[in-house]
Amino acid sequence: MSRFTEHFRMSESDVIEYVREKMPDFFGDEELTCHEIGDGNINFVFRVKGAETGKSLIVKHADHAARLTGQEVSLDRNRIETNILLLEGKLAPGTVPVVYYHDLVMSCVIMEDVGDHENMRYAMMRHETFPTFADDITTFMAKTLINTSDNIIDPKEKKRLVQEYTNPDLCEITEQLVYTYPYFEDGMGNSVFGPVHDFIEKELFQDKEMHLEVAKLKEEFKSYAQCLLHGDLHSGSIFVKQGSTKVLDPEFAFYGPAGYDVGNVVAHLIFAWVNAEYTEKDPAKKEKFQKWAEEAMVDTIDLFREKALAEFKANVTDRMAKTEGFAEWYVDGILVNTAATVGIELIRRIVGVAKVKDLTTIEDQEGRAKAEKICVTIAKDCVKHRTEYGKGMCYVAALKKAYEALK
Ligand code: ADP
Ligand code: MG
Repeated sequence: MSRFTEHFRMSESDVIEYVREKMPDFFGDEELTCHEIGDGNINFVFRVKGAETGKSLIVKHADHAARLTGQEVSLDRNRIETNILLLEGKLAPGTVPVVYYHDLVMSCVIMEDVGDHENMRYAMMRHETFPTFADDITTFMAKTLINTSDNIIDPKEKKRLVQEYTNPDLCEITEQLVYTYPYFEDGMGNSVFGPVHDFIEKELFQDKEMHLEVAKLKEEFKSYAQCLLHGDLHSGSIFVKQGSTKVLDPEFAFYGPAGYDVGNVVAHLIFAWVNAEYTEKDPAKKEKFQKWAEEAMVDTIDLFREKALAEFKANVTDRMAKTEGFAEWYVDGILVNTAATVGIELIRRIVGVAKVKDLTTIEDQEGRAKAEKICVTIAKDCVKHRTEYGKGMCYVAALKKAYEALK
């Protein structure tokens, strides 16, 4: 009799039994080890490994309560995550882990172990460079975003997908943590690094013009069901090795404005750049890393534009959307939302509850304060002047300007 007919939170030994039952052929009868390797806030992630062959797989398991905070989050996130991995794997083969098995009862997905890649945030914090990254990530974004939009797929199918991927619990987290709390002194979970408190108060809590722009962007996030987003495409959701990039953890996926994904990628390259500025002791390594990060920002925007246009033109089915000039209007609109997202993502990681290690691990307090000020300065410009960021080099120019202004 199976023990897995009703949801419960599994331990490491439960997971071994679970894998043997659900995927009997993967390991045969070799001895298995299992370790919880999750470092995220929300789910339990286990690696199951064969003692003899070294073969392995990953079991991602959702419980009613989030892993770190204990906050109640719908188990439906596991269904969304699995279906998105399957869909992304179809639209952009090789960019996400392969799904082996899925189970709505236990809220589990068993998938390919991409442990030969590593968390991109940590790799960038060692100031390692990944020359193929921008090419890889723009292929992923152009294919998954453009090919889930109204102009490509049948409008009825698109509306069915919007229903399938309606993700109220995870969207609520973003609406509050990204689009609301960081703009108010009393925002839940906020914490401001002491040396920048007065700066943040003046530049963010008191800037009503900024609040108005963020309110408009929040409205767009909530109501523009443009493309099926990954929804959490920061550098900790991206795993890299030389020549290869894998995207993990799409549980925040829903239909929203496409720039939300593209902007997240650029924002976390900016965090990596400032981290290098204030932590890297070897001048040659710093220079090499920052040059790569700048090129990656430029290419993320410019290659995305090029590939999104090509994808759109090759696959557009809507008669009106085939009108000359529409594709350019559409993709350039995504880049406006991209700039705004770069801004709000930079800000929420500095003021809000979910900080980034790129900043919090800068030991030199003056350096960290400078890094945060640079990011907030760029962020405000990206939000307020979002229509002026149509080319990748605009981000590098904003970065250099904010850096010089601080000197
Ligand atoms: P959460 O949803 O809780 O944020 P993640 O999906 O980000 O969980 O996974 C947490 C960690 O587990 C990742 O940072 C990574 O180290 C590991 N992990 C998750 N999926 C895989 C996978 N398919 N292959 C290898 N490691 C993985
Ligand atoms: Mg997650």
